[in-house]
Amino acid sequence: MSQGKSFNAFEMAQAQFDKVADMLDLDNATREILRNPLREYHFGIPVRMDDGSVKVFRGFRVQHNDARGPAKGGIRFHPHETIDTVRALSTWMTWKTAVVDLPLGGGKGGVICDPHNLSAREQELICRGWIRQISKNVGPLSDVPAPDVMTNAQHMLWMLDEYETILGGKYPGFITGKPVGMGGSLGRTEATGFGVIFTLREALKDMGIKPSDTTVSIQGFGNVAQYAIKLYQELGGKVICVSCWDQKDQTSYTYRKMSGVSLDELLSITDRFGGIDKGKAAEKGYEVLDGAAWIEQDVDILIPAAIENQLTGDTIKKISKKVKIVAEGANGPTTPEADAFLQERGVFVIPDFLANAGGVTCSYFEQVQSNMNYFWTKEEVLEKLDQKMTSAFRAVSDLAKSKNIYMRDAAYVIAIGRVAQACKDRGWV
Ligand code: NAD
Repeated sequence: MSQGKSFNAFEMAQAQFDKVADMLDLDNATREILRNPLREYHFGIPVRMDDGSVKVFRGFRVQHNDARGPAKGGIRFHPHETIDTVRALSTWMTWKTAVVDLPLGGGKGGVICDPHNLSAREQELICRGWIRQISKNVGPLSDVPAPDVMTNAQHMLWMLDEYETILGGKYPGFITGKPVGMGGSLGRTEATGFGVIFTLREALKDMGIKPSDTTVSIQGFGNVAQYAIKLYQELGGKVICVSCWDQKDQTSYTYRKMSGVSLDELLSITDRFGGIDKGKAAEKGYEVLDGAAWIEQDVDILIPAAIENQLTGDTIKKISKKVKIVAEGANGPTTPEADAFLQERGVFVIPDFLANAGGVTCSYFEQVQSNMNYFWTKEEVLEKLDQKMTSAFRAVSDLAKSKNIYMRDAAYVIAIGRVAQACKDRGWV
């Protein structure tokens, strides 16, 4: 199972599940059905390349569980894609849709390929080939794909077009992540970052702290971080630093301004990958610090919103005693060792699959709007997003308080409990 690597995401997903299955005292059949994907498809996608040769790409779709509704999850193009990564990601999608109580299951797909070395035409043929292999097993009522790493709105439109050509009709609800005006939803760009702040706002409310009395340090300055900063600043909070990757120097830096960073100022010197221009930042009066410095700041709140595996057994010891909340914008930023430290320190953690669920929630709204062929205003989308995120947060934090358990465990207990119940109610187990 380990595929020669020390880290296997699917083994980690199963270990997380096993811990909560014990807490919930699940029976063996339920464990068996939830530990593994219900269905997985492996296929070859032959593509006539630009040089006239034919190359066969390996494609996957994994439907981990659809007891609560159609499977939902992205399609990733990556040269190192493995079936175990897809299995793990589809498992996490099941828990993510369940924790926000969306009537959806979890799925994920992928193709082993590197878009950097493929022409647009070759990528289009991979997208169309992926759909031709799987069109009978996906659809608006069974499994709804979306973009993920290295796939975008264009890939989704090619896939939709192929699906509609095969089916002979219009099915805009088949896939999400489409551009606005071609079946996409307003508010999707803001959704994940805003969702993080909706949950943070509720956490602060519970602690009796006003956002305007707090300071934040953020790792990342991409889509999630930028919109998290926007909303948090609108609530009156102060962001004193952001950290991001510098492509030129091949390292990360932290940009700090103790009086508070200006979002517009930083956006004006940031590339489309979320990298800030170091020289220009210094000119604008930002201190340029080591990439890891974001974690050591004397702030109330830390928001990791860049990549996984950042709060580790080592780095976590550097966090200030002042930190009260960690809101996980990124997927998997905290290792189990760091989790134990935060729990002991009494830091309130808003776990990734709750905090960053605004993205999938808005994708669900896109699916609903596409199926109706009637589209909402941005205000309507964001208001519904706030309601969904707030009630999901309330359910998790109420359980954590009443049972005196860690927030991440409470989120898993709710998510896994809901899916287990759906399997039982359907008579599967
Ligand atoms: P993005 O590509 O727009 O931005 C990533 C940011 O992280 C960039 O600013 C980059 O410079 C920074 N970064 C990368 N490596 C770094 C490092 N070593 N140190 C410091 N900064 C580094 O990505 P995004 O869409 O904002 O996603 C961020 C995280 O949130 C990812 O973990 C992603 O899986 C997760 N997430 C995103 C969404 C979404 O809707 N965008 C939804 C759910 C979860």
